[in-house]
Amino acid sequence: MQDIHILIIEDEKKIADSLKQGLSENGFEVEVAYDGSIGWKIFKSRPFELVILDINLPGMNGYELCKAIRLANEAVPVVMLTAMNAVEDKIEGFDAGADDYIIKPFDFRELLVRIRALLKRIHTTVATGTLLQAGDLLMNLDSKQVTRNGQTVSLTAKEFQLLEYFLRNKNRVVSRADIALQVWDIDFDTRTNVIDVYVNYLRKKIDKGFDEPLIHTQVGMGYVLKDIS
Ligand code: CA
Repeated sequence: MQDIHILIIEDEKKIADSLKQGLSENGFEVEVAYDGSIGWKIFKSRPFELVILDINLPGMNGYELCKAIRLANEAVPVVMLTAMNAVEDKIEGFDAGADDYIIKPFDFRELLVRIRALLKRIHTTVATGTLLQAGDLLMNLDSKQVTRNGQTVSLTAKEFQLLEYFLRNKNRVVSRADIALQVWDIDFDTRTNVIDVYVNYLRKKIDKGFDEPLIHTQVGMGYVLKDIS
């Protein structure tokens, strides 16, 4: 099995060191930072599969760090540690992009179970290719979730199918006849404008309010969803 690297950013030395020991004993490669800014430097220096992050830290606090980590890497799971058991802290943590939350003092076995679940989720997603992407738009085929620039986009079942078809054919012009056949399972009828209507619904949801549109009209040919970088 490939090595799994975990970064712990926690200023309480005792907690950080015992976590490192426990995780190392369970086969993980562990790096520790006792300070937020040092943790950020280490995070940027090499790839990690998971980050465990305290909230109250010298240097940069956990929320700031979590946001910075999310901007740099959308996929890496972040588990936040906190001594506070306030609902507001959890909400702020999730808003910052954390995947899970552990209240101190915690049971190590529980933390281990959660870490393994998060790692499994990431690996499953990558291995089975259930994520489709174009620029900052992500579609998860398992959870049926769509996000653009981190914001959830609510789609109807048909809009979802249409977007999935566009994503699977990104940067390729698809005709109305292709869409009719592949998404509606019907032969294209020039008397109806159902496809244009649905493409416009989709545009309103995924492109409106963003600088760069993903869906483009190719006059006389159809539509193309362009990847943006
Ligand atoms: Ca702390």
